Amino acid sequence: MTRAKQQNRGTPAAKESRHYHERAKALIPGGVNSNVRLNSAPICFASGKGSRLTDVDGNVYIDYALGMGPTILGHAPPAVTAAVTRTLGLGQLFAGQHTLELELANEFCASVKSAELVRFGLSGSEMVQAAIRVARAHTGRSEVIKFEGHYHGWFDNVLINLTPPVAAGGNPIPRPRHLQSAGQSRHASDDFAVLPWNDAEVINRYVGANASRIAAIITEPIMFNTGGILPNPGYLQHLRRLATQHGIVLIFDEVITGFRVALGGAQELYDVKPDLSVFAKALGAGFPVAALAGRREIMEMFASGSVNHSGTYNANLVSLSAALASLRELAANDQAAYKRISASGQALMEGIAAAGRRHGTNLQVSGLPAAFHTCFPDRPIHDYTTYSMADQKKLALFLSALLEGGVRPTSRGTWFVSAAHTGEDVAATLEAVERALQRIL
Ligand code: PMP
Repeated sequence: MTRAKQQNRGTPAAKESRHYHERAKALIPGGVNSNVRLNSAPICFASGKGSRLTDVDGNVYIDYALGMGPTILGHAPPAVTAAVTRTLGLGQLFAGQHTLELELANEFCASVKSAELVRFGLSGSEMVQAAIRVARAHTGRSEVIKFEGHYHGWFDNVLINLTPPVAAGGNPIPRPRHLQSAGQSRHASDDFAVLPWNDAEVINRYVGANASRIAAIITEPIMFNTGGILPNPGYLQHLRRLATQHGIVLIFDEVITGFRVALGGAQELYDVKPDLSVFAKALGAGFPVAALAGRREIMEMFASGSVNHSGTYNANLVSLSAALASLRELAANDQAAYKRISASGQALMEGIAAAGRRHGTNLQVSGLPAAFHTCFPDRPIHDYTTYSMADQKKLALFLSALLEGGVRPTSRGTWFVSAAHTGEDVAATLEAVERALQRIL
């Protein structure tokens, strides 16, 4: 296998991929259908099975991008594809209910401790909007605290301060608002306040002075959209106490962490109960499905019709059957899938860090076995500012050398581990890491 991967000559983007990309660019802006993919090597894939992807040139990759996190059971997991196949003949959408909705809600609420009620949708971005809307309705307040470097989807109000310029001198609180896209409405985020994350003192001060207008605090419980930064000990608990004290709705955006870092998400791992939380990605094992879950008292506002959450394709049969099969597979045999993920991820994290030490380079591995991040920092990382000092050029060289060696983390340097990764994958990956470091250092 290693030998096959060593023959991945010419990637990123060998002949057929390049040819595809040229033709695609003529019809699809940038040749991609999500701007996130503009940053990846322009590889066109033919198929995926388990831990592996094959591109149109015949190159094989051990995949740690996993569709940016969703395919936690590997590509084309038999239990999920079989369940979806079984439902295809039943119809797709009824503008009415199907028993699978209740089956999935049961399974979901049994896994996620804070979920008293749940609504299903299709994407993380839209469910974040539902969360913010219902939090405002519940509190009668409008301001939302969002953290620097966190991503909550591509809609106007939340697409701010993901990659802002690092403040030169001074650390204004709140941060100046930084719009991430041309054409974005500035007014949509007028009632957002951006703070640095992982700093209890900063949020104490801000909330202390402005509590009466704050509806919600939204946070990634683990900062995976900028590095792989864990919350400081007690930080999430602190957010919980502060929100409760001031009647603010605490929203965990578990789009990445949900059903990945544990069956019950980061809220299970850190034993903190948010008021609302958003799930997507690993919930559907690669199929489009998302969820907003939380306290009955808040979620009931959708039931009365006073707060709108709609969507033609919500709870379609493909999404429902995929999520149900995925949750059952994740929970099966005493959560054996998580044990496999944890063992592979741990071996990878330790092996990559050891390779960095052997080469005397500042390669840092942070996060958790199920999702971790590699980068080359010059100081300890705990937030956006400290992360942005890391050596991005060295990271790009490392990732490119890995890709040529047949190993594919995300283009940001985040690695997602699936239950389909094997000991053989781990060994081959560590060999590729060794070769990549030899090459770039
Ligand atoms: N929240 C987080 C934490 C995410 O990582 C993402 C996507 N990467 C989103 C929201 C948006 O989800 P989607 O792409 O499904 O709209």
